[in-house]
Amino acid sequence: MPFEGYRVTSPYGYRTDPITGQRNTFHDGIDLVKGHQAPVGAFIPGKVLYAGNGVSGTGVGGYGNVVVIQDKYNRAHVYAHLSSVTVKKGQTVKQGDIIGKQGATGARVTGSHLHYEVRKKSSPSLGWINDPKARTLDPTQYVKDYFVAESVTGNNIYVVKAGDNLTKIANAYNTTVDALVKLNGIDNKHLILIGQKIKLPGKTNKKEILYLPKTASSWRVYSTTVAPVKGNEKGFLNPRKFGGLQYEVLGRPQANVVTIQTRDFGKVNIYVGPETGAILKKI
Ligand SMILES: [Zn+2]
Repeated sequence: MPFEGYRVTSPYGYRTDPITGQRNTFHDGIDLVKGHQAPVGAFIPGKVLYAGNGVSGTGVGGYGNVVVIQDKYNRAHVYAHLSSVTVKKGQTVKQGDIIGKQGATGARVTGSHLHYEVRKKSSPSLGWINDPKARTLDPTQYVKDYFVAESVTGNNIYVVKAGDNLTKIANAYNTTVDALVKLNGIDNKHLILIGQKIKLPGKTNKKEILYLPKTASSWRVYSTTVAPVKGNEKGFLNPRKFGGLQYEVLGRPQANVVTIQTRDFGKVNIYVGPETGAILKKI
């Protein structure tokens, strides 16, 4: 749910018109409620194209106090029925910047809410055409997709340098040549060009945690440079003594063996096969 802190009072798409009672009318945005005069932050960064009372003929007539923000794909984001507007035309806003306050201004408003609309185009007339479905995109989907795309174009791009090849790049970013070929639609994996942008698989950012249950009183750990087998122990952990123990997983040198950092033995490998009762969880 990209609209954190809001209640959705009317979704995007076909609905019964709340004022006329007419069925199957198309709602061109999503109605969100936080509280009357609650600050409204921008869902998507961009440039303010319009800020103030929506004047007839501009593309936002009847929208009340309204802010229109153009994003980098030239979509127009319309924040309508605001009680007040706190940005100016021409201003650049980041995601989360306060642009106004929730209100009930404009025509055809049943109560205080934010009407948020994403228009396919931002010009002419702020992307207005008299067909609500053809004019707009599903705001929930758009905001979700925008940040997925962002995580690829924003952070996870590698620019090819002299002497690079896909194997080298794959190894450096903990992925495979096949994964890069697939993700980037590369025809010839032996041919990449200097300056070419290579998308890297998205990072999960999730930590994996190892839990050792308090029922165990003695758990072998091994130096990372030896085989994790009986006789090679560096020491023993005692989960029972501590009511269970937990560690961040730092690596997986082999099946059912993970690397952890311990207080007493430093960085060690530990066997965590299913029969041991160890629990691994991504958080
Ligand atoms: Zn609405």
